[in-house]
Amino acid sequence: MRTADILVIGAGITGSSTALGLVRKGAGRVVLLDEQLKSQRLSRGNFGLTWFMCKGAGYPGYALWSRKAAVAWPDFAKGLEEETGYDVELDWTGGAVHAFGQAELDGFAKSVGTIREGCRSVDIDYPVEILDRKQFAALMPEMSLGEEVSGGMYTSEQGHVNPLKLLGAVRCAFQKLGGVYHAAQGARQILPQANGTILVKTCSDTYECKKLVIAAGHGSARLVASLGETLHIYPQRGQLMVTARCRRKLHVPLLSVRQTQDGTYMIGLSTENTALDTRVSADAMKSQAATAVRIFPELGNLNWVRAWGAIRVMTPDGGPIYSQIGDHENISVLALHSGISLAPLHTGSIAPWILGETTDNQISEFSNGRFHA
Ligand SMILES: Cc1cc2nc3c(=O)[nH]c(=O)nc-3n(C[C@H](O)[C@H](O)[C@H](O)COP(=O)(O)OP(=O)(O)OC[C@H]3O[C@@H](n4cnc5c(N)ncnc54)[C@H](O)[C@@H]3O)c2cc1C
Repeated sequence: MRTADILVIGAGITGSSTALGLVRKGAGRVVLLDEQLKSQRLSRGNFGLTWFMCKGAGYPGYALWSRKAAVAWPDFAKGLEEETGYDVELDWTGGAVHAFGQAELDGFAKSVGTIREGCRSVDIDYPVEILDRKQFAALMPEMSLGEEVSGGMYTSEQGHVNPLKLLGAVRCAFQKLGGVYHAAQGARQILPQANGTILVKTCSDTYECKKLVIAAGHGSARLVASLGETLHIYPQRGQLMVTARCRRKLHVPLLSVRQTQDGTYMIGLSTENTALDTRVSADAMKSQAATAVRIFPELGNLNWVRAWGAIRVMTPDGGPIYSQIGDHENISVLALHSGISLAPLHTGSIAPWILGETTDNQISEFSNGRFHA
C-alpha cells in the first residue's frame, strides 16, 4: 500500500495547480494521480484565455472570483517561470470581444453596465470599455476588420497563455517542490475509514491518505456519487480549429479568435450539448470559421490544419464548485469551467482552504450544496 498526506485525484490543470499550492504550503507528502498517461485533452486542448471579462453576469460573486484570478495571473506566471524555467507564453495584452452591427454593440454596453453594477455591490472594479469600430481597429492595426464589425468590448487587464506549457510548468514546479505524480493510476474506489484516513483503490494499487482532493473533471461525478453526493456538473462540447503558422499580426486575443506566439490562429466559440462525445462536426466548424472570416476576412485565405473537440465541465450557474463532501471533512471536490483563468487562485487560495487555513471567505459560496434541490 502507498501512502500520502494528501492525495489529489486528477492531474489536469485544476488538480495540478491545487497540488502545487499544497506543496508550496509545505503540506507533507502530496501525491497527484491521473488516469491516463497522455490524454488530458481538456486541460491541454483549450483556448488558453486568462480572462475575467463577461464572467459573472448575474452572479457578482463569480465576477469577483474571476477578477481576483486575472489580477493574480502576471505574478503567477512569473513565479512558475522562476521555479521551472518554463515560459508559459503569457501575453498580458488585454482581450476583446467583437460586435457585429450597432444592436449587438448596444447590447454589450448594457451588459457591461449590469456586470459593473454587480461588481460595485461586492466592491470591485470592472475595467471594461466599449469601443467603436475605429477604436477597436486600433487595437489590431495590422489586421483588416470585416465590414460588419461595429466595435466591441475590451479590457487591458487580461491575456492568454499556452495551455500545454502551463500544464507542463505547473506539474514541473509541483515535482520540484517534492510533489509526487503517478500517471496511469485511475481511481476506482474511495473508502473512508473509521480511523479518519481514506483508502483509494486505483486500477493497480491502493493508497492511504489523510486528506483527499477530487479534481477529476467529468470523472469526478462518479467518484463523488460513490460517497452519496450528486455533483452538479454537465458536459458541453467546444470545438477548436488551428491554422498553419503565419507572421504574427494579431496581438490582442479575441474571445473567438487569437494568434499564438508561434503564429497559428486558433478559432473556437462553439457550445454544444453532446454528452461526452469529443468528435468534431463539419457544421460547428463551418459556423465558427464563417464567424472568424466575418471578423477578419483574410483568415479565409489560410490553411486550417487541425481541429479537435473537448468537453467543458459546466455548472448550472457557471461558477466553480469547491466543496467538502457530506460528512467527510477531509474529502473535497473541485469542479469547474475556466480552469486556466482560475489557476492562480487554485494554487494561492484553494490549496490553503483544503488545509483548513482559509484566507478567502468567498470560497464557501461555491459549495456543491448551492444546487441541491
Ligand atoms: C473548447 C474549450 C475552450 C476552453 N477555453 C478556455 C479558456 O480559454 N480559458 C479557460 O480558463 N478555460 C477554458 N476552457 C476550460 C478549461 O479547459 C477547463 O476548465 C480545464 O481544463 C478544466 O481542468 P480540470 O483539471 O478541472 O479538468 P480536466 O482537464 O478534465 O482534468 C481532469 C483529469 O482527471 C483525470 N481523471 C478522470 N477520472 C479519473 C480517475 N478516476 N482517476 C484519476 N484521474 C482521473 C483525467 O484523466 C484528467 O486528466 C475551455 C474548454 C473548452 C472545451
